[in-house]
Amino acid sequence: MKRAPPPALAKKLARLGIRTREDLAVHMPLRYEDETRLCAPESAPAGEPVLVEARVERADVAYRPRRQLVVHAEGLVLRFLNFYGSQLKAFQRAAEQGRLVRAYGEVRPGFFGAEMVHPRYRIVDAGEPLPTALTPIYPTTASLSQTDLRKLVLDALNEISLEETLPHGLLAKYQLMGIAEAIRALHRPAPDADTAALIGRTSREWRRVKFDELLAQQLSMRMAYRARRARSALALPSGGPLLKRFLGRLPFRLTRAQRKAMAEVLRDLAEPHPMQRLLQGDVGSGKTIIAAIGCLAAADAGCQAAVMAPTEILAEQNLRKFSEWLGPLGVPIAWLRGGLAAPERKRVARMLQEPGPLVAIGTHALFQKQVGFARLALAIVDEQHRFGVQQRLALRRKGETRPAGAAPVPHQLMMSATPIPRTLSMGYYADLDVSVIDELPPGRGAVTTRLVASGRRAEVLARIRAACAEGQQAYWVCPVIEESKQGDLQTAIDTFELLQAELKGLAVGMLHGRLPVPEKAQVMQDFIDKKTQVLVATTVIEVGVDVPNASLMVIEHAERFGLAQLHQLRGRIGRGAQTGDCILLYAAPLSDAARARLKVIFESGDGFSIAEQDLRLRGPGEYLGERQSGQLLLRYADLERDEPLVRDAREAAEALLEQDPQAARRHVERWLAARAEYLRA
Ligand code: ADP
Ligand code: MG
Repeated sequence: MKRAPPPALAKKLARLGIRTREDLAVHMPLRYEDETRLCAPESAPAGEPVLVEARVERADVAYRPRRQLVVHAEGLVLRFLNFYGSQLKAFQRAAEQGRLVRAYGEVRPGFFGAEMVHPRYRIVDAGEPLPTALTPIYPTTASLSQTDLRKLVLDALNEISLEETLPHGLLAKYQLMGIAEAIRALHRPAPDADTAALIGRTSREWRRVKFDELLAQQLSMRMAYRARRARSALALPSGGPLLKRFLGRLPFRLTRAQRKAMAEVLRDLAEPHPMQRLLQGDVGSGKTIIAAIGCLAAADAGCQAAVMAPTEILAEQNLRKFSEWLGPLGVPIAWLRGGLAAPERKRVARMLQEPGPLVAIGTHALFQKQVGFARLALAIVDEQHRFGVQQRLALRRKGETRPAGAAPVPHQLMMSATPIPRTLSMGYYADLDVSVIDELPPGRGAVTTRLVASGRRAEVLARIRAACAEGQQAYWVCPVIEESKQGDLQTAIDTFELLQAELKGLAVGMLHGRLPVPEKAQVMQDFIDKKTQVLVATTVIEVGVDVPNASLMVIEHAERFGLAQLHQLRGRIGRGAQTGDCILLYAAPLSDAARARLKVIFESGDGFSIAEQDLRLRGPGEYLGERQSGQLLLRYADLERDEPLVRDAREAAEALLEQDPQAARRHVERWLAARAEYLRA
């Protein structure tokens, strides 16, 4: 690409995120193939790709069993189900000229003898030398062949010199080789290169490339963090009278971890720059009160705070807690959820427009465009992992998109009960400060978990009767609400009817996502007020719901739930003083994966350890969910396998930003420019 490539080629390259010669140079191989040796078609090992060579005899198009190009060569048949007319012609010409086909792929026994389907191939003359080193195979796109792409990459390598982005000090500290040398060796492996290390991506060349990729990720997130942090926010000092009064008569003694988290939050809030903090703590660890304390710091400064939850049930629960805690202090509370009648919505909107302290509680309705705050100083997002990336971005941008120099940016506190394994959190949360509440309030009853085959339902019902006779309450959780395609699932509605019939004398309620909102709230309220003893529910109760008197939980079809979900569900019980009992009903036979999951949840009660195992069982992409892992799309490094490198890259990112911000920017551009949309996340 000395000159600009022709538009058609440029378009194909753009699809690969390649716009410059440097992009080409850092377009690294996906894998390597060994074409240094020829193998006779008849002695090719089963299931292993090999390089074979044979004289082309004839080529034609067959129509059975379906249209395909069939190339007959000496002792070998090649088949192509998708092909161009030009390929047919080229093979026919090769046959006339007695040339050879050299093909790479798996050889299988077929009707005419050895066969290859869709091999990668080249037409060659007899005696053409074989490559002496492994052949790199690149990620490519439709109608851009490996051969063409490889040539473009090698040309680019010759034409540019890759500048080193890391200072000597960092190279030495992390024992990294030079980037130009590493890149060259990966595109053009030496004949004596360690094949296994190259293919397994463990060579020192790969180590450097992975490090650079991870460093770019860390840098981009840290840069985003610094940019946001450089903006101004309302400083909310913590010595004010409301906060003082609240702390002077707390409803309970804060745990050590809560006190630490509180101190971190209050310290951030006192700064004239926006806090960007994640408060992570297992279900029931007591995050809400930390949020309330933050809101009081805002109120003391005469400002507004907003607390948003992902569901109405959770928002309502927040409303209850905040009313109980802040009501007596005279802090006005605004309640905003979706589906409010127009006059009520207008009344709340007017409230938000008034100057003076206020805490707004609600769902994401709080952050809709038409909702304007007079003086929002703190935005709190509860159970933030439940919001999609897009919603989270919208939240972050709320207030950031105002005209430059306009109102300050609100402080942000995100709360999450999903423990993220350390390995992932380093990559995932590099643009946030993190506080962790790693202990539960004292006096919580322990939760026992039992695995019970679904055939033993009668025993489980007896257990519920006994618990409810002692004044306790129970959840019965079902995976779906209606007979769906998975017809074998016991539905919530069926279960509800069954339990009503089986548990004569007990009041049974039902809660699921399709109930109208007021009804949902009523069902929940009845359960809280002990009007119902048993609550049949779908996973709407998964997060945050707090009913200390509920001590028993039955999870139907536990094998269908993910680990994080099971852990969250189980966190609903053992919230009061009684011990909790969690019964996982499963339908036999269990798949290996389901068995592994249930084993983990049975053996461990610690959210972080469960998260680590979940990550191990599923891998990071699936663990975070496609939607959440956008920022983590790594092409070469693997957050789990390369954990030590992630650690180094994180440390190096800070150092580089301090030492040489210019080089840091260059580095990010090299590795991530093509995916800039992720950087803005
Ligand atoms: P989560 O972190 O899951 O949001 P909550 O804030 O809902 O947890 O707290 C769970 C329950 O524990 C609530 O009823 C809350 O009032 C109570 N709680 C929180 N902190 C303490 C504490 N230090 N001592 C006793 N109870 C507490
Ligand atoms: Mg909560």
